[in-house]
Amino acid sequence: MRKKQICLSILSLCLLAVAGCFSRSQEAPSIPNLPPIKPNQSQSESVHSSNDKLWIQDRTHSVPRIFKTGSGSDHSLGSMSEHGTAGSEAIHLPKFTITVEQTEREKQKKRQAKSKSRQQTLNKPNTRNKQTWQKTNTSQSAAQTSQSSRSSMHKLQKQQLTIAELRIKYPHIFKLNAQQRRGVRQVALTFDDAPDNRITPLVLDILKEHNIQATFFLVGTRAKAYPKLVERMVREGHVIGNHSYNHPLLTKLTLPAFEHQLKDTERIIEQSVGYKPRYFRPPYGEINEEQLRWAGDNGYLVVNWDVDSNDWRGLSSSQILQNVMREVRPGSIILQHASGSTQNGYLHGTVKALPSIIKQLRERQYEFVTLPDLLQDQKEKKE
Ligand code: ZN
Repeated sequence: MRKKQICLSILSLCLLAVAGCFSRSQEAPSIPNLPPIKPNQSQSESVHSSNDKLWIQDRTHSVPRIFKTGSGSDHSLGSMSEHGTAGSEAIHLPKFTITVEQTEREKQKKRQAKSKSRQQTLNKPNTRNKQTWQKTNTSQSAAQTSQSSRSSMHKLQKQQLTIAELRIKYPHIFKLNAQQRRGVRQVALTFDDAPDNRITPLVLDILKEHNIQATFFLVGTRAKAYPKLVERMVREGHVIGNHSYNHPLLTKLTLPAFEHQLKDTERIIEQSVGYKPRYFRPPYGEINEEQLRWAGDNGYLVVNWDVDSNDWRGLSSSQILQNVMREVRPGSIILQHASGSTQNGYLHGTVKALPSIIKQLRERQYEFVTLPDLLQDQKEKKE
């Protein structure tokens, strides 16, 4: 009877143990059904293919710990391990098997890359041939990028040359100053935007007082309005230049419109003084290559400057003087203005600074000449 009770107790304990095991197995996480893995899929493929990427992301969130174990050195999967936790049970999943194979493939790839790199080092020429080598690599690189750079090259070709580039390309028809000559200390005063009846007469008076001849670049509409002042300029020994008909930004104009700007002004000046001006200064100093070539072909010499007084900005006479004296050198062409805005006080700095500029330049033994003398250009404007 006692034995029977003992047996019953043991049996009930066993039943309880079995029930406990069954209960725990119900609480354990189930492994979800994973989508099939492509047999030859590499990890890099899985990253670059958008479909596969989605697949991996989905898998990562479903069973994050899978990737922690097998990711190893692969950066693409390494990033996914951030979502997961370590767990060796994942090694039984098919994914891990693939990962191990992929790791082997990666190692093989690295070995091949290392071997290739060493071969390249061996093939690298010595310093004497470095340039050739660099050229070869450059040409290879250029070939690779030729497709992308072709459009930007095309854009560059269409870009306009700068004034400095035009000056270098066309030194015979485009001047900023004169070449220095031994023992010669000449400068040319030039006055733009003339004439008007406010500033121009004052400038002419100062020049006359100091017995100085300068060059005036006239705007056609103003020359037409003040023919007497144009005649006075010539009578007092100044040289007349063409500064367009109504002072537009020429680079915005078509070539025929540009031609009109010069021809119309030329006709007005010729009627006043009896000759066609040879010197042309584009408003704002801006001109494009096509226009410059046309001007050269039609007998003009295009003349800008190398010393800018910046007087048109409404500077004080001392600032204007300083701007000129700082930049001047033998052969310089100095830019000032003798007309412009009707605003009260405009160019008063120019008028006030001019006697000081003359005085200080003379103290430095400079001689004032017109553009034909400075540039040693005695040509007449041809038809
Ligand atoms: Zn101007």
